Amino acid sequence: MDLSIVIPLFNEDESLPELSEWIKRVVNIHGLSYEVIMVDDGSTDDSWAVIQSIAANSPAFKGIRFQRNYGKSAALNEGFKAAKGNVVITMDADMQDSPDEIPELRRMIVEDGYDLVSGWKKKRFDNTLTKNLPSKVFNAAARGMSGIKLHDFNCGLKAYRLKVVKSVEVFGEMHRYIPVLAKLAGFRKIGEKVVEHRARKYGVTKFGWSRFVNGFLDLITLYVVGRFGKRPMHFFGLYGSLCFLLGFAISVYLIVAKFTVDNFALTNRPAFYIALIIMVIGIQLFLAGFIAELIGRNSSERNTYLIEEKQGLD
Ligand code: UDP
Ligand code: MG
Repeated sequence: MDLSIVIPLFNEDESLPELSEWIKRVVNIHGLSYEVIMVDDGSTDDSWAVIQSIAANSPAFKGIRFQRNYGKSAALNEGFKAAKGNVVITMDADMQDSPDEIPELRRMIVEDGYDLVSGWKKKRFDNTLTKNLPSKVFNAAARGMSGIKLHDFNCGLKAYRLKVVKSVEVFGEMHRYIPVLAKLAGFRKIGEKVVEHRARKYGVTKFGWSRFVNGFLDLITLYVVGRFGKRPMHFFGLYGSLCFLLGFAISVYLIVAKFTVDNFALTNRPAFYIALIIMVIGIQLFLAGFIAELIGRNSSERNTYLIEEKQGLD
């Protein structure tokens, strides 16, 4: 199969018929064998009924329905598990992403050898102040921390080599950072394509301001976990030891000064209290690292690798 199109959706019953007709038109013109996996993320409108009627008429259209709303990441993850096409395309259900972009995205994977191609909504049709400006800041932070040169991490329209979606686990709200997850999994050829963005035709946006706060916290988590997730002591141990040594050095200095200069009371010196606190913080950091190592030891994932190829071994 050439193509799997994964569409996470939450209360989008109005757009689905139009979207599916458009997708059919595009893939049929290009003669691609395909499947469309619509993941209904616990919609409370008629989305599931619409999906069932679309699937009844076109066998290439398939559906998965969650018991309740779990979020876009969960929906994508489930779609990725089911996907069988050599290239997997994700797109939003609200018709803000154009299916006309699919063939070129697929070509970049198949012919140009990209592992992942992300859409870039260069000209956006969203409310300017609440989305465009925070999104610029957010993308700059993500670029800086991940080292991946993308302008639009959160774009719903992306294309993947099948192997990539089978190697990443999208959970929480990590759908914003699938390129980072892919990079952590060792896929290096990540590109982008400017895509047409359209105004939402039906329904309302499902994400508010909190996306930027949550997105930023998730970015910090990814950065730290990516660097130190498998060796927490190298992070906590280093800073814990440095803190402790600094506090210890200050105390020694104060004690030596006390006996060599004018026998002052240590409790009259603010530096003494600061030194004590720094030492306590240092010990706490050190212990946090040690506990993290103990937990990591028991994790079944302490030794999971992705093997790309083998030679002379089965
Ligand atoms: N979505 C989802 N589960 C959710 C929230 C959103 O599957 O809990 C889907 C939504 O139906 C749409 C896509 O994710 O297909 C992007 O959402 P939206 O268009 O609201 O985001 P925006 O375009 O405003 O960034
Ligand atoms: Mg949208």
